[in-house]
Amino acid sequence: MSNKEYYDRIDSIEVFILRAPLGKAKFWSSQSPFPERNSLLVKITSGDISGWGEAGQYGPPEPVAAAIEHVLAKRVIGKSIKPTVIHEELYSFSRDFGQRGTYIDAISGIDVALWDLLGKKLEVPVCTLLGGAFRTRVKVYATGCYYRHDHDDPATIDIENEVKACANEAKSFKGAGFGAVKIKVGLLSVENDLKRIAAVRDAIGPNMKLMVDANHAYSVPTAVHLAKEMEKYNVSWFEEPVVPEDIEGYRRVQAKTFIPISGGECSFMRYGFRDLFVGPNGPCVDIAQPDIAASGGLSEFMKIATLASTFGVTLIPHVWGSGVGLAAGLHAVATLPLTPYTCNPVYMENEPVIEFDRNPNALRDEILKGPKFTLGEDGAIAVPLDKPGLGVEVDEDAIKRFHVPLQK
Ligand SMILES: [Mg+2]
Repeated sequence: MSNKEYYDRIDSIEVFILRAPLGKAKFWSSQSPFPERNSLLVKITSGDISGWGEAGQYGPPEPVAAAIEHVLAKRVIGKSIKPTVIHEELYSFSRDFGQRGTYIDAISGIDVALWDLLGKKLEVPVCTLLGGAFRTRVKVYATGCYYRHDHDDPATIDIENEVKACANEAKSFKGAGFGAVKIKVGLLSVENDLKRIAAVRDAIGPNMKLMVDANHAYSVPTAVHLAKEMEKYNVSWFEEPVVPEDIEGYRRVQAKTFIPISGGECSFMRYGFRDLFVGPNGPCVDIAQPDIAASGGLSEFMKIATLASTFGVTLIPHVWGSGVGLAAGLHAVATLPLTPYTCNPVYMENEPVIEFDRNPNALRDEILKGPKFTLGEDGAIAVPLDKPGLGVEVDEDAIKRFHVPLQK
């Protein structure tokens, strides 16, 4: 029996801040404009093999890069490649000052890179290391229909044009073969956002699934108002209706609508998800959305998945980053069972799915060698299994094109 992992030591950790300006393709959520896409990649090397991870989601990458480079790297270099052990050691070290945010982002990136590295060393895919895949292709939903506005003041958005553009974009997803689309709300008034929702439902027809994401734009009364108005548009979930700290607010919205409530992209570690799940009336979210690059990596995702399964909560990871983050998400979702099991799984009901961001992002499309992630006729994308680890090969020349070094 091989016990190879106990002998292979970690030689180095490197971080790469990547930036891809969007120019006129800038878009908005309810919280901010997106003038660029950025990612923080983590490369961990042992001998002549390197593993890659992604750290953080849409926050500034610099503090996370500094936490890895200046604080955590020295606690990892020289150790054996044991992702879950190192994850626990790093969290135990940073618990007193880093239970959320920067340090968990950093640990997440290190963790994913270690799983990739271990898979490459043992020459097996990450989903095999995690316990085995239920599926080799994962059904997706499209994330798009942000506010396409290349100016600096969202108050100047032309509502009529915005509604039309949003509906056209949703229709394009239907034409491309997507079975579900998630659109943004919260940047405009409830009345104007309802116009967008109505136009999208009209454009995609009655059968395509439609989800709505507020990025915590609302007070409880406003979220309830919108939820009640949205019920007639057959909305599959209402994401982040209120600020993530307001768990009671989530409960108050959830109690007033039959639309399922989702959230969790701003939650960290199993403890953050426990707080969403435990309460007098059960979980305050029907769908939990941990971001693997931010909530604790693949090691923690497996723990969150176990926790969610015991509370009857559906798990659909938030995926926003580069091709490395998407590959990690695909391996993770491949390991999720049907929830609950039926012998005839139903898309967007009990069959695990993954978010497929369709906003412009060169870091998703241009930093990996080989074929891009593409939607098949089955509404799914393939888990990358042709190579070991995460199954993707980072194009280091492409990394150089987008890399902006951390200022000392
Ligand atoms: Mg969201």
